[in-house]
Amino acid sequence: MLYSELADIFDRLESTGSRLEMTTILADFIRGVDRSELRKIIYLAQGKLHPDFIAKELGMADRLVLKAISFTSGTSESVAEELWVKTGDPGEVAEKLISKKKQMTLFAEELTVDRVYKGLTAIQDAEGKDSQDKKMKLLANMLHDSGPVEARYLCRIVTGRMRVGAGDMTILDALAEAFATKEDRPAIERAFNITCDIGFVAETIANGGMGAIENIHVTIGNPIKVMLAERLPSVSEVVAKMGGKCAIEYKYDGIRVQAHIGKDSVKLYSRRLEDLTSNFPDIAEALRERCKFGEAIIEGECVAVDPETGFMLPFQAVTHRRKKHGMDEAVKEVSVRIFMFDILYRDGQDMTYVPYLERRSELESTFEIGDKVQMTTMRLVNSPEEGEDFFASAIAARCEGIMAKSVAPESIYRAGSRGFLWIKYKKDYQQALTDSFDLSVVGAFYGMGKRAGKYGALLMAAFNEDTGRFETVCKLGTGFDDAFLDSMPELLNAGLSESKPKMVDAEMVPDVWFDPTVVLEVVAAEITLSPIHTAAKGVLKEDAGLGIRFPRFTGRVRDDKSPEQCTTVGEIIEMYEMQAHDSDGLSE
Ligand code: ATP
Repeated sequence: MLYSELADIFDRLESTGSRLEMTTILADFIRGVDRSELRKIIYLAQGKLHPDFIAKELGMADRLVLKAISFTSGTSESVAEELWVKTGDPGEVAEKLISKKKQMTLFAEELTVDRVYKGLTAIQDAEGKDSQDKKMKLLANMLHDSGPVEARYLCRIVTGRMRVGAGDMTILDALAEAFATKEDRPAIERAFNITCDIGFVAETIANGGMGAIENIHVTIGNPIKVMLAERLPSVSEVVAKMGGKCAIEYKYDGIRVQAHIGKDSVKLYSRRLEDLTSNFPDIAEALRERCKFGEAIIEGECVAVDPETGFMLPFQAVTHRRKKHGMDEAVKEVSVRIFMFDILYRDGQDMTYVPYLERRSELESTFEIGDKVQMTTMRLVNSPEEGEDFFASAIAARCEGIMAKSVAPESIYRAGSRGFLWIKYKKDYQQALTDSFDLSVVGAFYGMGKRAGKYGALLMAAFNEDTGRFETVCKLGTGFDDAFLDSMPELLNAGLSESKPKMVDAEMVPDVWFDPTVVLEVVAAEITLSPIHTAAKGVLKEDAGLGIRFPRFTGRVRDDKSPEQCTTVGEIIEMYEMQAHDSDGLSE
């Protein structure tokens, strides 16, 4: 297929705001695509070359892309740079300058999707001392044979700015529309949730229909989307919701890992699908040593402990293990244990369909428990009093709260879903009216006084799962220490956007906009109806959204969460409804 046909589809997707329309455009398109190219096309539509759990990045610096554009278009780098600064979008720069060049170029070899995919892969894989030059030339070579729209998307892909709206959910909808029915949509989503590879799911359904989709199973090496918990405001409500009887585990405050234990090697994934094996090599080794079976996929929380006393240390201690450099020292200095809470697969058996109590006992018997490899502490509870008791012991053990888990026959592991089979309750709920929020930064306001010349406050948004858009909930200006204020540009500026990003719904206008990339943990006093914030706008009251009052940054950058994994608008509505409400006062 010619790359220009694909670029035209990207253009059409980008120019529609409606998810339904996007789905139809995509479905009509992929129905006619050569099956052997579908996988690549799906990755490219998301600005990728492979699924997220493959730890390879295109890694082209903005400056190199600028150089390639100016080299191909015959424009000076300073002119290209000026345009870049003005538009903030490398795609637009390429489009404008290449369009001028096009009128002059006579001999261009047409670009195919295959050539683009191979070219981008070569850029990704270029190594060694000439790698920068090689990358620049590879891009320039493709730009040379590009039309303006093709150039726009090439430059967005290589700079990680490809956001045409083809999110996972839209692609899954399109796959159902193109190759199956609406009723098949949940099964297609499950296939994605247990493989985390949307290109593979697309190829499978296109080639083998629903029969092939239903044959996809949990396998070692393909991370599974994690199951998440709902929340309730008191232990008694938790126990009641579970039908008066449930299992309760300590809720450890560490880093969640999903361990894929193979016969000879182990890989650890974060909930964001990053490879954390080199951050916890000791845990990987201990899991392999203590696992009594050939293969297993388990989940647990990695927590830092005092090596002398075995006491658990606060979350900050384990974050030293998330650094990119100096890992050898961090491994020596910070002693870590894994507290396992689930098993999803063992020696060819998909265990996600097995009920909780059975999974737990299989988990325990899969390992020789001890030393670095422990089970989460759990108690079966039959009354609110027993629940309260156990909660108190969790807090005494320095945990952040409890995780109640259903023991009903239907208590399977629901990959990728947040539901009431698991319910969390944290000690923080006793102080604030709500849980903490993990919000995406979508804008910043310049500071005044002591904060002059810096970002003084941030515009924060929640993710709306139904629309795939980010909706604002607060302006955050509290909880920043000097070090964080100084680090903000480095943390945020890669996502700078010239205007309000397409996927953001906001009425408040900050001084600068960001594409959502960074997630911060925020606590607040209360959720209220808000005339200015756009979260759940019109859902609870006409002309009002939901905002959070007195928000404060906790100091925790949730780099384990992608923006789409931040607190959802649906969760904020639930938390609002959970709050004891005195009035309908409007917040600022
Ligand atoms: P939080 O910020 O509260 O961790 P979250 O959005 O990251 O919330 P939740 O589903 O709300 O995720 O809480 C579940 C998280 O709690 C898990 O992702 C895991 O990291 C952690 N956790 C700690 N102890 C347990 C346990 N015993 N069982 C399951 N998850 C646990």
